[in-house]
Amino acid sequence: MEIEKKFTPSQNFFPGREIPCSVIVYHYTEGGPAESCVEIFHRPDGVSAHFIVDRDGNIIQMVQMEDRAKHAGVSEWNGITNVNDFSVGIEICNWGPLRKVGDDYFCGRPERQQKFLGTNVFQDEKGSFWEKYSDIQIEAVIQLTIYIMERFPQITLENITGHENVARPIGRKIDPGPAFPWEKIKEEIKKLLNK
Ligand SMILES: [Zn+2]
Repeated sequence: MEIEKKFTPSQNFFPGREIPCSVIVYHYTEGGPAESCVEIFHRPDGVSAHFIVDRDGNIIQMVQMEDRAKHAGVSEWNGITNVNDFSVGIEICNWGPLRKVGDDYFCGRPERQQKFLGTNVFQDEKGSFWEKYSDIQIEAVIQLTIYIMERFPQITLENITGHENVARPIGRKIDPGPAFPWEKIKEEIKKLLNK
């Protein structure tokens, strides 16, 4: 499968891989448009991910899949530490948690919070609010996931996971959060793989 993407390289990565890539980790950016995330990944000595998926479905690549992006931090998957060594990281543009004040929602970290200008709001079973992922964005995530799985056959459906599941200590990260449509994504991927 070919996908449309733009490449704007980040200098934040470890070159090459010593163990095969077998995991995909989804994140949310906790931010606005993709450009703000690109800017962060261009900062010297900072973090990165292989891909960013914008709210309109556009895909930006920042690290080659043969190299290791700095996306997972202190992490573990199936008993193996340092998930950056054997994973591809995908950042999905989304604010994560929203705070409701009157009729308005606010997003971003408390010290630089701003009014949420979107209309896609998800409420979890505890009553908390989150930015909902758009359908076109999730469709792009699915296409991108298939593209990565074709490159690395060691990646199984079970090894497609979220930052919240690999970050250590447990609870250090909560992305991609309860608004992320895991069931829909896994079902669609299964369907496409069986084609
Ligand atoms: Zn993350």
